[in-house]
Amino acid sequence: MTRIAIGGFLHESHSFAPLPTTWGDFVKPGGFPPLQKASTMLDALRPTSCPAAGAIMVAEESGVQVAPLAWCFANPAGPVTAEAFERIAALLVAALSDALEDGPLDGVYLDLHGAMVAVGFDDAEGEVLRRVRAVVGPEVPIAASLDPHANKTAAMVHYADVLVPFRTYPHVDMKPAGAQAARLLLRMIHEGRRPAKIFREIDYWTPLPGQCTMVAPMADVMAERARLGAAPGVWELGFCFGFPYADFPGCGMAIASFADTPGQAAQAAEALAAFIASKEHEFALGVLPAAEGVARAMAPRQAKGPVILADTQDNPGGGGHGDTTGLLAELIRQEAQGAVLAPMNDAEAAAACHAAGQGATITLALGGKSDGAPLSVSATIERLSDGRFTLTGPMGAGNPANLGPCALVRVAPGVRVIIVTRKMQAHDQALFRHIGVEPADQRIVAVKSSVHFRADFQPIAAEVIVVAAPGPVVADPAVLPFTNIRPGLRLRPGANR
Ligand SMILES: [Zn+2]
Repeated sequence: MTRIAIGGFLHESHSFAPLPTTWGDFVKPGGFPPLQKASTMLDALRPTSCPAAGAIMVAEESGVQVAPLAWCFANPAGPVTAEAFERIAALLVAALSDALEDGPLDGVYLDLHGAMVAVGFDDAEGEVLRRVRAVVGPEVPIAASLDPHANKTAAMVHYADVLVPFRTYPHVDMKPAGAQAARLLLRMIHEGRRPAKIFREIDYWTPLPGQCTMVAPMADVMAERARLGAAPGVWELGFCFGFPYADFPGCGMAIASFADTPGQAAQAAEALAAFIASKEHEFALGVLPAAEGVARAMAPRQAKGPVILADTQDNPGGGGHGDTTGLLAELIRQEAQGAVLAPMNDAEAAAACHAAGQGATITLALGGKSDGAPLSVSATIERLSDGRFTLTGPMGAGNPANLGPCALVRVAPGVRVIIVTRKMQAHDQALFRHIGVEPADQRIVAVKSSVHFRADFQPIAAEVIVVAAPGPVVADPAVLPFTNIRPGLRLRPGANR
């Protein structure tokens, strides 16, 4: 009977984010399952939208025996501490060693993000794959799924046999990508061979708001990827648009192509690289300053539904802490009506609300604790929650959220805020509904997110406006103080030429 090991270790690290990522952040992440060891991993992941759930599904449907290793995720923030990285890598490797003691393994599937930076290991996934390869040896095939925000490196392509990134941003195909990686793993096992591989870097970076695959030009790039990936002999043509907030020489957009022959792999990779190069001039920033964005959101309009204001530079899914106050201050200053903002990640404020109780009015120094300054507000507590709910949107349906104590507070006659204790990106309407706010009934819904919100919120929106209030997830990465990226990488489309 075929037997494979399944594990996962996911993080997207922002080299310039205000706070590091610790062991505790993996133990209790908001919006994703908490750290799992071998004994609980399969049951915890099966009902989720995580890539590993797809791999588990394929393995079980194929009658393959699964040796669970460990799995964990933490929300994007600063680099992973050395302690957290070593403890989690050790969990994976120790479980792999135990699995090998029980009997031979035919393959390994890993659920990786691809943009993790750990203290001591800039290319952290390259290091995880190196360790796993060292344990299983050169003959056992290794497949991994990746987030397309991966800063895919030559080391990752070297130590793995196939890498399958999601095709969408918002990521609505996480589970299918894990399933496809597992199918290719089983193909390698059953055919007793591995595909040839080619790694190809792209010379420019695209800002997050421009990477959305629902609209041009990234929609065109992904359509071309699909067309080229269907060529004879090609197993997988993976394109990662990278995470433009990491600072090491392996950063950037990259292609990894896997095919029967090196020629087929190279042909697909070069054709896609040429297409991406031809689209460089079409990638634009498309963000408004917060004051302009709020004024536009308040303007009268015919279309039904709320205006969605995306606070992209404090995106908790991009390394922001989710507690900056620039957009909130602007909503209050311009006396917005029917506005709700979420999440405001401030454990202290949430605790103060829970201590005061529903109906009370208290003074809060709200947010601004990681970056910028708190906003002094008089907050009337409309509703409290324990922050536990299940996601319902296209990205995360079925995933458990545990944001700790939460509070819905009114901070101005027309402005309300959902305060949380642990951050998640505002990509799911359940974040609002769990505390009694129906997004479709609001006039303005302000979300801390760059692109992921579009999957669940764009269908109900009269208009989507991406705004830039002060925060670490800068819409234009070219303003960051990079010191370690490779020479020749253009920090924004069309730069330096
Ligand atoms: Zn991503």
